[in-house]
Order: sequence, then C-alpha cells, then structure tokens
Amino acid sequence: MPIRVGVVGAAGRMGREVCAAVVGADDLELVAAVDAHASIDSVEGLSIHGDLRVLADAGAHVVVDFTVASAARLTLPWLALHGIHAVVGTTGFGADDLDLFRSTFVASNCLVASNFAISAVLMMRFAELAAPYFDSAEIIELHHNAKIDAPSGTAVTTAQRMAAASSRWAPDPTTHELYPGARGGEGPAGIRVHSLRIHGMVAHQEVILGTAGQTLTIRQDSYDRSSYMPGVLLACRGIAEHPGFTLGLDAFMGV
Ligand code: NAD
Repeated sequence: MPIRVGVVGAAGRMGREVCAAVVGADDLELVAAVDAHASIDSVEGLSIHGDLRVLADAGAHVVVDFTVASAARLTLPWLALHGIHAVVGTTGFGADDLDLFRSTFVASNCLVASNFAISAVLMMRFAELAAPYFDSAEIIELHHNAKIDAPSGTAVTTAQRMAAASSRWAPDPTTHELYPGARGGEGPAGIRVHSLRIHGMVAHQEVILGTAGQTLTIRQDSYDRSSYMPGVLLACRGIAEHPGFTLGLDAFMGV
C-alpha cells in the first residue's frame, strides 16, 4: 500500500517540486495539497485547499511542510494532534520551537531538516569526521545573489559540528586586514566562514582543511531544487520508523 502524502506550502517553489517528486514515486501517493496564499488552483491534478482539515480527510500518513516558520508553528501541533507524521523543510525555527515540537509529537513522528540535500548532509558529516586530523579549517559558502542572510544555516551548522569535533585549531596569524572582513567571519572555535553571493549560483559550500604538507577540500553543490527531493522522499519513507522528534536528515541516512 503506498504511503499517503500531503503537502503544505504546495503552491510554493519547494512545495510544487515536492508534489511532483511524490507523484513520480511508485511507493508514495499525493493525497492532499494545502497552501494559504496559493497563486495557482491545483498542483499535479489536485486542488489546492486553504484549510489543514483536507489533510486528515484525505487520510494522509505523512505531511511535508515547506512554508514559513510562523505558519509551521501552527501546522505542526495540528498534525501532532491528528496523529499525522511531519516532514519539515521550513527554516527559521528557534530552540524554543524545537523543544515544543519535541514534546508535542507523541502519537506521530516529526523530522525537521534545514537541508534535505543528501550531498550537503554528507559534506557536514565528512567535515566533522575530518576535523580532529587537521589544525586549520575554513568554510566558503556560495549562494545565489538573492540570499539576504549570511552565513548560510548550513555553514553555521558545519562550523558548529567541526568545533564540537575538535578544539585543537591553530590561531589565526592575521595581524592586519587591508579590507575589513577579508578573513571572513569568525565562527565557533575560530573557524572562519566566507560568504559569497554570486548571480547564477544556487547553493554550494567548500570546507578546506589543512595540516603539515596536505589539505583536504570537501565540496558540495546544489544546482537546483531537485537536489532536495531524494532527501524528502527518503524522509517520507522513513518517518514512521523514527519515533518522536528528529532534527536533521542524518539519522534517516544512518550516517
Ligand atoms: P515559497 O515562498 O516559494 O513557498 C512557501 C509557500 O508557503 C507559499 O506558497 C505560501 O503561500 C505558503 N504558505 C505560507 N503560509 C502558509 C500557511 N499558513 N499555510 C499554508 N501555506 C502557507 O518558498 P520556498 O522557496 O518554497 O521555501 C519554503 C521554505 O523551505 C522556506 O522556509 C525555505 O527556507 C525552506 N527551504 C528548505 C530547504 C531544505 O532543504 N530544508 C530547501 C529550500 C528551501
């Protein structure tokens, strides 16, 4: 029996991509589409509704949410109340939100993942594994020129995980910066993060690590929104097996 999937934010850029990916998967069935401010009437042949109730009426097992944090704060408790699993790509939650989701999802499960690109999840894991073997490391994140925040959430998470994996980093030798900011922003454990905003790019990151006579460069590239879909489908298939609340796709990938 296929897994019945509903999508909230179904008229958005990510939501439409998710609907198409679900329809293209043999073991999943798209049963409901919700969007509060839809500029289109239907997606993949399904009418788009403004009310969450359609998700329960359609018997959704899993609901994928790609909206905004303020909307997801209302949607997620509703899904928990109705015993529906949640796969959440929406970004912008604080620690309090995550604590609330952790306590709310009891009868059904919830995954919140700020990056569904499998290559990005692996890049972060590899950087974390490599960290103890090197004494210098810097992160370069490269994004499209419409991104207004810096550094990216993925760069922040990468730096945090590398800092947690090793505290033995060499001090920054810089004593004079001709252009302020030339050495990037100082992240946890002094790991420098450089944010590039380049027209034509999507989402990319390099982690460069070095020690005596050798360097390691780990690079990840998301070329378009399709890069997130294998991770979203993996989450829809695995959510029933991960009780309660999970943060990050890593646990679903077993890495
Ligand atoms: P978008 O603006 O194209 O789509 C968001 C959709 O949510 C819109 O159609 C909007 O009408 C709808 N929406 C807003 N409030 C709603 C509500 N109360 N109920 C139902 N629908 C509502 O944005 P996007 O590019 O699709 O991104 C959506 C989210 O996904 C953002 O938070 C973004 O940061 C995040 N994102 C996450 C990943 C990841 O891998 N986790 C990747 C890309 C984007």
